[in-house]
Amino acid sequence: MDFELSSEQVELQRMVRDFAQREVAVAQEQMDRDHEFPYDVWKKWSDLGMAGILIPPEYGGSGLDSLTYILAMEEMGAVSQTFALIWQVHVMVANMYVHLGTQAQKEKWLPNFASGAKLGAFALTEPGAGSDAAGLRTKAVRDAKGEWIINGNKIFISNAGTKISDGTVLMAATGEQDGRRKSISCFIIPMGTPGYTLGQSFDKMAWHGMDNRELVLEDCRVPSDSLLGKEGAGLRQALAGLNLGRIVFGTLGGALTRACLEEALNYAKERKQFGRALSEFQLTQAKLADMATHAEGIRRFAHYAAWLHAQGQDCHTEAAMVKLMGTRLAVQAATDAYQIHGGYGFMREYRVNRLYREAQILEIGEGTTEIQQLLIARSLGC
Ligand SMILES: Cc1cc2nc3c(=O)[nH]c(=O)nc-3n(C[C@H](O)[C@H](O)[C@H](O)COP(=O)(O)OP(=O)(O)OC[C@H]3O[C@@H](n4cnc5c(N)ncnc54)[C@H](O)[C@@H]3O)c2cc1C
Repeated sequence: MDFELSSEQVELQRMVRDFAQREVAVAQEQMDRDHEFPYDVWKKWSDLGMAGILIPPEYGGSGLDSLTYILAMEEMGAVSQTFALIWQVHVMVANMYVHLGTQAQKEKWLPNFASGAKLGAFALTEPGAGSDAAGLRTKAVRDAKGEWIINGNKIFISNAGTKISDGTVLMAATGEQDGRRKSISCFIIPMGTPGYTLGQSFDKMAWHGMDNRELVLEDCRVPSDSLLGKEGAGLRQALAGLNLGRIVFGTLGGALTRACLEEALNYAKERKQFGRALSEFQLTQAKLADMATHAEGIRRFAHYAAWLHAQGQDCHTEAAMVKLMGTRLAVQAATDAYQIHGGYGFMREYRVNRLYREAQILEIGEGTTEIQQLLIARSLGC
């Protein structure tokens, strides 16, 4: 068993750590305060080849593998979960184009995704269909000319309404299958398509600076060649894309746990009560020891799942496990780090306040904790 990273991977980790601390840390504070998308930092990040990290070089990408991507995600997630998530959604969408797109779709969209000139978004969730994604009601029907007419609503969609958002991948029902289950297909929706409207951006508890909004489709008409992948295979394709997304969410849980440890350890060494540093109390030490152990455990498990993914092996159970474990332990770490800060953690000026708020969404996005448990239980034969 070889646990060594390659020299290229170590170099990339160093580059991402430097960039995150130099450029993203300040942008993160601004995003949390002003709720604005970080266009400048996104451009600089893209110029380093990171927007196209998984896109093959023939389309202008960096052509790196999933494990290397996860290593970079760890470093970014420890500094800014928001920027990491903006990047994650974009990479997931670009990856769908890589694996499902026709030659013409790849040539049209991938160079723009690789350069970061266009930002990807993925629209599955609806007001009435969250965990039960197959219950979606957005419908696409073909007219006599073969064009698709789409009607419905999407909610919470990340990255969908920035100045550079385009080529949103959207799921809609295209008919019945087996006489009862919906056949779901995946569509490319270019910005400016008539009948496609952006709703208000949501005011969120954290991830300020990431754009999340409702999408409205009213007789939205797209050409016949707008299907991404096979008609009727949309949900399977989307769920396959979510495996890497789930490994990312677990990884971000590990990164957040690491950030909580840093904050809590520094604070506990400085803050004195009863004439001693908090770090000298064994009850504080137990919390810090748990955080250190969990951060390392999540990291190692995420590397393994990402390695399986990079080898093209089935990893859907491991992806669900990493997501479940990484995000749940992150919530625990955030609660403990916040508790160690006493009343100061309640103040927004303390970094632990943001970490606490950010942790709360990790168990929801990319499939909730309960959905991961159902998937894992299914793999046990339940
Ligand atoms: C900030 C943010 C960004 C998002 N970005 C995107 C995006 O880019 N694209 C996108 O498509 N979606 C996005 N989402 C949607 C996200 O994926 C959903 O919120 C998530 O899947 C849960 O769906 P829901 O909120 O409707 O909750 P529900 O499905 O209503 O679940 C509510 C609760 O019930 C539980 N539950 C549901 N079913 C079961 C069951 N069978 N057994 C046990 N418990 C169950 C859930 O685990 C949860 O605890 C985003 C959400 C947020 C908040």
